[in-house]
Amino acid sequence: MTYVRVIGAAMLLLASAGVYADPCKIAIDSNDMMQFSAHELAVPTSCTDVEVTLRHAGQLPAKVMGHDWVLAKDSDQSAIVNAGLAAGLSHGFVPENDKRIIAATKVVGGGESTTVKFSTAALVQGARYVFFCTAPGHSSVMHGRFLFGDATRVAQAGK
Ligand code: ZN
Repeated sequence: MTYVRVIGAAMLLLASAGVYADPCKIAIDSNDMMQFSAHELAVPTSCTDVEVTLRHAGQLPAKVMGHDWVLAKDSDQSAIVNAGLAAGLSHGFVPENDKRIIAATKVVGGGESTTVKFSTAALVQGARYVFFCTAPGHSSVMHGRFLFGDATRVAQAGK
């Protein structure tokens, strides 16, 4: 029984994290329940570029339940979210030319997906990064840790 449960959990993890063969390409899902499918993402330091694909598995349109995926330093999250609110819907609630933003996707609605590719040149191994959605009220739920480091260190850091 335990064996079956472990396999089940592993498969669930694979399905939700959308693991690709290439560790530098990450997929994350979002839905109509204002949720991301992962609360922790990690890429190895061997990645010079990272590609993140955000999918919206729900049905609600972007103007009702739109999501984006923004990467920044832990300490910059709330300032970016507030600046995004000020930027408003016409800018997808993302402040323009904000140097604190390391990467940001465009906003997607139900059934859509979008991909952003960014360089890891500015990322520091072991620094604390977060990803979040900048839609109003979403970031308190839609956020997670982004780790830049090798998988074993990442696994230990999560404990
Ligand atoms: Zn959202």
